[in-house]
Amino acid sequence: MNPKEEKTFVLIKPDGVRKGLVGEIIKRFEQRDLKVVAVEMFHPSRREMDGHYPKDEKWLRRIGEKTMANYVKYGYNVKDDFGTSDLIRIGKTVRSWLLDFMSSAPMVKVVVQGVHAVDMVRKIVGPTMPNTAEMGTIRGDYSVDSAVSANIEKRAVFNLVHASETPAEAKHEIAHWFGKKPVFKYKRFGVDE
Ligand code: ADP
Repeated sequence: MNPKEEKTFVLIKPDGVRKGLVGEIIKRFEQRDLKVVAVEMFHPSRREMDGHYPKDEKWLRRIGEKTMANYVKYGYNVKDDFGTSDLIRIGKTVRSWLLDFMSSAPMVKVVVQGVHAVDMVRKIVGPTMPNTAEMGTIRGDYSVDSAVSANIEKRAVFNLVHASETPAEAKHEIAHWFGKKPVFKYKRFGVDE
């Protein structure tokens, strides 16, 4: 496969929609020569969101590790907010807050295509915690949330965008959210011809 054919899945989360950032977020992908090949607003159920996020221990532990790192960095104790320092249990609690948040209001789902689209989009979006995201990334420019600030309020981190982490994950997510709906083909001026 030509790297130009690679596709990734993006969700503009409820905070991105409610901050009026739909256009700005899509613009940032388009200006890097990536192309939008499917886009739609929708409001998923909690159950549909449950099918989107992994449930395996490896994923839960990774969420726990990211959370722990944020707490250690700022001198907070995870036990105060989670009642445990078990990384998998922390991951499970965060996952539940995440499902609540992602089913709380409309979102915009997008399929983005282009050279190494998965990595390019992750780079444009920035790291998970907006407080550590560089200026110039979407999360660094438009949010200042962190694990500690979110977890004290028992909620998900507001970081505007979800983007697939690997091409395999992108394939699963595009199938999950677009099903039989069309993903379009067209040529971008100056990029595809
Ligand atoms: P990413 O979205 O950068 O791929 P992850 O897959 O690690 O990040 O986490 C999924 C989502 O879970 C994040 O985008 C964020 O909204 C939320 N999240 C992660 N860690 C926490 C946490 N400690 N507290 C609240 N929400 C979190």
